[in-house]
Amino acid sequence: MHCPFCRHPDSRVVDSRTADDGGSIRRRRQCPNCQRRFSTLETSSLQVVKRSGVVEPFSRDKVVGGLRKASQGRPVSDDDLARLAQQVEETIRASGSSQVEAHDVGTAILDPLRALDEVAYLRYASVYSAYDSLEDFETAIAGLRADRARRESEAGSEEGAGSDAEASPGAGPDDDGSADRVEASSASDA
Ligand SMILES: [Zn+2]
Repeated sequence: MHCPFCRHPDSRVVDSRTADDGGSIRRRRQCPNCQRRFSTLETSSLQVVKRSGVVEPFSRDKVVGGLRKASQGRPVSDDDLARLAQQVEETIRASGSSQVEAHDVGTAILDPLRALDEVAYLRYASVYSAYDSLEDFETAIAGLRADRARRESEAGSEEGAGSDAEASPGAGPDDDGSADRVEASSASDA
């Protein structure tokens, strides 16, 4: 990168250290031409495309903010939220692409949040998946109950939260009656 003072096309690294818990590297550089020093911050790029089409950098703070709202009054600590947000970022980065949809971020949040606190999960899911009826809540709660039953029957044989994204008890944006229609059309039989 160019020296910000004299535009010299080269610079020498005089110091580098990790920042942001290893999420980025800060380098101190010196320009061999004018001898002035400047810093660069290196992160691997991760952009989020919002529903509106606006693209913005992924922000762990933003994830934590949303989680904090959903977990108000719940026995969830700041550490829990920070850890969850880190997990979310790791999940997203693991996809290998430098640009993800906001929807993918939401999905990556729901899975670990469900394991952390069911009430916070319901609150978050109700906003994120735009629940608009009691039935939506009932479906989500039924999903939680099924999870719990499965967890209790497996009782420690696995670590839960597998690597694949089966995260959709109520994650369809188009709920509301579509299941009825499927049933009705498959009812013919010899
Ligand atoms: Zn310079």
